[in-house]
Amino acid sequence: MMRVGFGEDIHLLVEGRPLILGGVKLPYEKGLLGHSDGDALLHAISDALLGAIGAGDIGRLFPPSDPTIKGIDSALILRKCLGLVAKEGYHIVNVDANVVTEEPRLRPHIDGMVAHLASLLGVNSGQVSIKAKTNEGCDAVGEKKAIRCNAVVLLEKDV
Ligand code: MG
Repeated sequence: MMRVGFGEDIHLLVEGRPLILGGVKLPYEKGLLGHSDGDALLHAISDALLGAIGAGDIGRLFPPSDPTIKGIDSALILRKCLGLVAKEGYHIVNVDANVVTEEPRLRPHIDGMVAHLASLLGVNSGQVSIKAKTNEGCDAVGEKKAIRCNAVVLLEKDV
């Protein structure tokens, strides 16, 4: 039995924060604002995992109003979602994600991001895809005020 899940997230780019995407710190003069470390890519993937098993969303599991998770490493959010997936008896077939941003150019970092994300997910790099897109100058993302990520995951029931 297979289950598909979809996730999307957007965070504002601000001065004075590191840019962390897929658990990787990228060189850029701004970073993503958030109650957590702002990792919109891990949030989109985490939401896709929860969606695939019908377990709600990360806002419910990790409410922004909770002061104890301020600045939380999003890898911990992902790990909790992976735990729920395993508890339901599913494993990841593959993950496909988009990172939509005008800057920085992600191409030189994609292979490293894929390898790191695969290690966080406990899968092989061949099961993970991250695509870099721009927003053609449109909207807040095109104006370099925000970065948007989306992801689909496919899960398969353990045998
Ligand atoms: Mg988020």
